[in-house]
Order: sequence, then structure tokens, then C-alpha cells
Amino acid sequence: MPRGRTPRQPARTGRQDRVARAPLSTKPAPQKSRGSKDTRITKDARVGTGAPARPRGEAPAAAPNSRKASTTSAYNPLAPERISEILKRLDQLYPEVTCALTHASAWELLVATILSAQSTDVNVNRVTPELFRKYPTVQAFAALTPEQLQPDVRSTGFFRNKSKSVVGAAKKIVADFGGQVPDDMDRLLTLPGVARKTANVVLGTWFKKPEGVVVDTHVHRISRRLELTTNDDPQKIEQDLMRIIPRDKWILFSHQIIWHGRKLCIARKPKCVDCPLENLCHAADKTWSTVDMHENAKA
Ligand code: SF4
Repeated sequence: MPRGRTPRQPARTGRQDRVARAPLSTKPAPQKSRGSKDTRITKDARVGTGAPARPRGEAPAAAPNSRKASTTSAYNPLAPERISEILKRLDQLYPEVTCALTHASAWELLVATILSAQSTDVNVNRVTPELFRKYPTVQAFAALTPEQLQPDVRSTGFFRNKSKSVVGAAKKIVADFGGQVPDDMDRLLTLPGVARKTANVVLGTWFKKPEGVVVDTHVHRISRRLELTTNDDPQKIEQDLMRIIPRDKWILFSHQIIWHGRKLCIARKPKCVDCPLENLCHAADKTWSTVDMHENAKA
């Protein structure tokens, strides 16, 4: 079978991270594995390298000075053209996605987001309709003790802390903010149980204010896989993303990456064979690869 026609497994060791960054291949993409859905976007694989695209099948021009050529086309994961290509493909894949937490007000979204920590949106959506029927206003939550709320949110996990946060936030909103969820970062961060992730969800999804990028577990994982950051701390990751993603994309980008994390770029065994970002991605734990630099990986 001709080389390049068979899906390959990249090294599990992640050694490809240490392979010298050569310009990516423009070879025709290999055939997909049997039964996989064709969602691939055919695109020159050298996006982000600074090298111009060339027609498929055309031989690359010989570099007169290979040393100089490799210097000028060194791979840069943060190259503006690579970032804009990632954003373009996310727009094609997830054009109108938004927050999956069921809510009808800023308060309900705040509660649902607090409950979603270490849980799934599906799990939270099972709990909140009855919760908001039982306690329809922020004042009703403010009148509770955390212990009274615990049975209602028990199934979302960490229910003692979450009850404390929700009741504490309700009391502060009633006492200090006239019963209205604040619409700015500084005041949101004064609420018990609210850090930047929760504040960004509420500001972006309800108030449509791009104050930052939501960094949840999906954004954390995928930003690192796509080399948009090398940091591990959510606040530093957010700062990195805010530097490279245009502000008017912050809200949608957060939702797109979260959906990508649910659908394809899952934590264990990501579905790289179906991922339209595949030829832009050099993650060490890819499960399928068309990118030449992975061929050089030594186990
Ligand atoms: S190629 Fe794989 S690891 Fe990379 S973004 Fe797509 S699903 Fe995630």
C-alpha cells in the first residue's frame, strides 16, 4: 500500500512534541478509516507555518538554501493565519452554538453554572427545572439555609459546597445588588462561589458582554492540544486566549470549544479521524494523524 494512504497512530508517548518542527506536509490526505463520517475540510496542511499553499499534487519547489528555508518557515502554533484558520473551521463546524445549561434568567444561569462544576450539563439540566419551580426567585433562595437546599442539588455532586455558594450568592444579590445579578466582572466576583469561569458564562451568555474567555475543563484541554497555550492554570490560559483570539470572538469561541470537547475532542481517545482541525493539530495524544511531523516520532 502506498505510503500515506493508511491512517496512522501517532506515538502514544507524545515524543512528537520533541521532534523538530518541520513544515507540514501538503500530501493529499489519506483515505479515512472505514465507517467514519466525512467531515474533513480539505485544506493545505501548512497553515500556520508561514508557507504559501500550493495546489494538491504539485511537487514542492526545491529550496535553494534549505537551512534558510527551514528558518523562515519555522512552525509557529500562534501564527495569526493558523489561529484564523482554526476559528474559521470552528465557525463551519459549530456556527450557532450556545450554552447548554437550561435557564430563563441571569440568576438561573448563575445557579446552573455553579451547579455544573465537576458535573455535566445534562445532569444539571435534570435538577434545575424542579429547583426553579420550587424556588422561583433569587429572594426565595436567599431565604434558605444551605442545609435546606442540599437535598435538591445533591445529585450534581459537591452538594454541600454548592448549596453554600448558591444561598450565599442569593443573599448577597438581595442585600447588595437590589435582587439583580450584576452585569460586570468586578461585582460578580464578589459573589460566593463565583470565579472568572462562572462570571464569564453569565456575562457572555446572558449579558452578551465579552469580558473574557470561559476556561472550563474542555477549553483547558483543547487549548493545550491545539498549542494555543502551554499553561496549566485556568487564569493564565484565559489570558493567553484573550491575547490571540479577537475580542468579538471570545463568547462564541468558548461555546465552540466546549461543544468540540463534548462531540469530538473528548478527554480520552479524541475522535481525530472526524475532526476538521486534524491537520492543524499536533497534540501528543491524537488518535489518528495525517501530519508528516508525526511520522518522525520515535516511540
Ligand atoms: S485532531 Fe484530535 S486532538 Fe486535535 S483537536 Fe481534533 S479531536 Fe482534538
